[in-house]
Amino acid sequence: TVFTDLGLAAPLLKQLGELGYETPTPIQAQSIPIVLEGHDLLGIAQTGTGKTASFALPMLHHLNASQKDGDRPAKSVRGLVLAPTRELAVQISDSFREYGKLLGLKVNVVVGGVPIGRQIRNLERGTDVLIATPGRLEDLMNQKAVTLNHVTHLVLDEADQMLDMGFIHVLRRIAAALPKKRQTLLFSATMPKEIEALAGNFLTNPKKVSV
Ligand code: AMP
Repeated sequence: TVFTDLGLAAPLLKQLGELGYETPTPIQAQSIPIVLEGHDLLGIAQTGTGKTASFALPMLHHLNASQKDGDRPAKSVRGLVLAPTRELAVQISDSFREYGKLLGLKVNVVVGGVPIGRQIRNLERGTDVLIATPGRLEDLMNQKAVTLNHVTHLVLDEADQMLDMGFIHVLRRIAAALPKKRQTLLFSATMPKEIEALAGNFLTNPKKVSV
């Protein structure tokens, strides 16, 4: 398989070329067509397998296709990625910015441990892709700095890690603020019973991919 076979928009393929990406990794080759078709996805994959691009590329494709002249409702979010740690969240946001460089989408990242004021201001004019750690996102929801009722695409990355860190209740409260009609992807390095239960709650008829 080559990237041009997967059905991604031309500006994404162009940017992948710039970055020197030639062939999709196995998780990318399996996941991207499923996500482009609109299915929910349960992905079992470790870091280093290229899993970030396997959710970032099709999410950018969808958000680019449904973009309306850069017009974003105040405080709104269209694509939401939840990650367990600050470091991972920042790394994911770097990937979204790189892959989406030619698309004109607004990418924001909100993590704990840094002042919240600038994050509140960055969210004010609306966001296409928000990458967040769960605790800080909940703070921002409580402060009415962000509204999640426009979210069409959700990713839970390193879900097993988020459960280990005790985020289950926060995740449920965040999910309760999201539209039911959305596409959800869940990635985990392991598949214990707790992750199966979480997948049952968050995903609808998911396709499974494992590398
Ligand atoms: P990840 O598993 O998402 O953290 O990605 C691991 C590393 O592989 C990152 O540095 C990516 O930039 C790189 N990478 C991901 N997919 C590809 C690809 N298809 N071709 C070349 N490099 C890639």
